[in-house]
Amino acid sequence: MLSSGIHILTITASKKTKKIYLLVSKQTMCLNLRPWLRGFSELFFPRNCKGCNSSLLHNETYLCRRCISNLPRTGFETWNENPVFQTFWGRAPIEFASSIYYYRKGELIQQLIHSLKYRNNREAGLFLGRIAGRQLIKSKLYLKPDYIVPVPLHPKKLRSRGYNQSELIACGLSETLGVPVSNELMMKIKHTASQTRKSHYERWENVDGIFKTREQQAFENTHILLIDDVITTGATLEACCNALLATPWVRVSILTIGYASR
Ligand SMILES: [Zn+2]
Repeated sequence: MLSSGIHILTITASKKTKKIYLLVSKQTMCLNLRPWLRGFSELFFPRNCKGCNSSLLHNETYLCRRCISNLPRTGFETWNENPVFQTFWGRAPIEFASSIYYYRKGELIQQLIHSLKYRNNREAGLFLGRIAGRQLIKSKLYLKPDYIVPVPLHPKKLRSRGYNQSELIACGLSETLGVPVSNELMMKIKHTASQTRKSHYERWENVDGIFKTREQQAFENTHILLIDDVITTGATLEACCNALLATPWVRVSILTIGYASR
């Protein structure tokens, strides 16, 4: 019996849905059970940090505060002519560009992005989008966009992966920034081979003309925040930008989670 005099008749826990089911006396229907249900749920299904495996505190999700603070922040969002912005000098006339973390091999940030792209870890994308949004919104250089547009995948790739990793990041960002995601109006019209082993010129050649906007009018006179997981040479983002910049009066900014320095 609870202190409020409510009788719990049965408690069942489902590992699959991660929910606790309570069969209680009729009175409980009027009570807000959520706060203690959550605590109760954590008793049965403790949540651990995906970085260090320690137990997460009540207000932490996915990563503990310590692991978040150990991620290699770039601070580029507070610096107008940062290295990501400079990547596009002479290539695409953008408003602003930034990456939130240095993308380094063997580090947690690489593991998170790798599991998002190749191991169906969709939660990582939403989480990274949310924390990126929290950093971006604090910057004095932040200009609220009208739409968040994830770099699209070719339909063939989307079918084999089952989701677009950049769209998940965009959804996390959208929650924090309060800006809608538009994933219908940009499309990838050519299936391209992986960029990983290509030279700078080959990467550019590989992606030239691969993106197209569906309805240019929808983007007219708007500011778009273009999202990708990692920037390396910027060839993919440049191709995407150029497709968007064909729209009259459009302004484009770029944000990625990782910055792979060359
Ligand atoms: Zn941790």
